[in-house]
Amino acid sequence: MTDRNQTLFDRARNVIPGGVNSPVRAFRAVGGTPRFVQRAQGAYFWDANGKRHIDYIGSWGPMILGHGHPAVVEAVQRAVLEGFSYGAPTEREIELAEAILAHVPSMQMVRLVSSGTEAGMSAIRLARGATGRSKLIKFEGCYHGHADALLVKAGSGLATFGNPTSAGVPPEVVQHTLVLEYNNIEQLEEAFKLHGPELACLMIEPIAGNMNFVRASVPFMKRCRELCSQHGALLVFDEVMTGFRVDLGSAQNVYAQAIPGFQPDLTVLGKVIGGGMPLAAFGGPRAIMEQMAPLGPVYQAGTLSGNPVATACGLATLKEISKPGFFADLSAKTQRLVAGLTQAAAAEGVAFSGDSQGGMFGFFLLPELPHNYGQVMKSDSPRFNKLFHGLLDRGVYIAPALYEAGFVSAAHSEQDLADTVAAAREVFKTLN
Ligand SMILES: *Cc1c(COP(=O)(O)O)cnc(C)c1O
Repeated sequence: MTDRNQTLFDRARNVIPGGVNSPVRAFRAVGGTPRFVQRAQGAYFWDANGKRHIDYIGSWGPMILGHGHPAVVEAVQRAVLEGFSYGAPTEREIELAEAILAHVPSMQMVRLVSSGTEAGMSAIRLARGATGRSKLIKFEGCYHGHADALLVKAGSGLATFGNPTSAGVPPEVVQHTLVLEYNNIEQLEEAFKLHGPELACLMIEPIAGNMNFVRASVPFMKRCRELCSQHGALLVFDEVMTGFRVDLGSAQNVYAQAIPGFQPDLTVLGKVIGGGMPLAAFGGPRAIMEQMAPLGPVYQAGTLSGNPVATACGLATLKEISKPGFFADLSAKTQRLVAGLTQAAAAEGVAFSGDSQGGMFGFFLLPELPHNYGQVMKSDSPRFNKLFHGLLDRGVYIAPALYEAGFVSAAHSEQDLADTVAAAREVFKTLN
């Protein structure tokens, strides 16, 4: 049988750099041929060879209802018939803004954009514009999209600012970005001591999903909030991945349960709020958001922002996940998956640790959960790659890199979870 994934990959590489439109899809970390998706339904997608996979990526988070949820498909079909894009405001943009604000009380106003990168970049511009300051803190292992100022790795010390992680980013563009270790309170305090009056914002993934799955500890998050407030810097939550994925109130609600009254200043959203369509957002208190053009001096714009088909998709998705019990069910299911994998690993004597929140999970072939990027890097990637390919052969598709979170949808059945755990147990046998 000809391998149509391979045929398509060869063709793609001729016309698209690396054959993909986003790097991690290329399987460079794990080796082998990317699976080209033919179609998807519920918890599954079928690749170009017609092989079915249980999908734990779900477009990297957006597909929280699974693929092709009937209510979402219907809303999109209706919207498409009314026009694809107008470049003029629509009622649905108000409805989506209201639906987002209803669940995330830290936000009083929101601006819709088309990608998480765009939202993160705009939130930083707003933080700088609103504070009149230039410097910002980010953390090693957190990803906030590919805006120039955020493609940074740590410099040589706390007094020095970052170095670009991509060619094409001039050092001057990242000279205001300070990169700290995640969950390191001492470093955080030191950084504020040195740079406090110049800091516009601290940007963080509250539950980091771009170094697999690493939670900010409650004491660390509490200190982030206190130091930002003391020094007049804005606390920016990048919830592109966690927003409406880990909880209906997003990760900030998870932290508010542990830290009374906790709220970030600005929130960046994407992924789930578009339900799989290009849609993202950033928002916060009215006084800050009114700094945005056309009211204020901070410029930002977008031809396709608040696109009528994307907003229909996002609204229908939010309506489904707002139904009573949705997150309790999704969380319980995700916890059962992680528990099943943990037991299977233990039965085969494989070092394993896993964690989840809502419909987002992560696991490591490490005896204990890591707390920062350095510890995540200690994961054994040859063994992860073996696990990845073993699961892929058995029709289970997890992220093709060990630095990525996994996602369970409402469409995953108990049988899907059981099949996944059984497949993992077979592969665990080969890891020792
Ligand atoms: C996916 C992601 C982004 C970037 O969003 P895009 O829509 O891919 O531009 C930013 N921040 C976080 C935390 C993400 O997971």
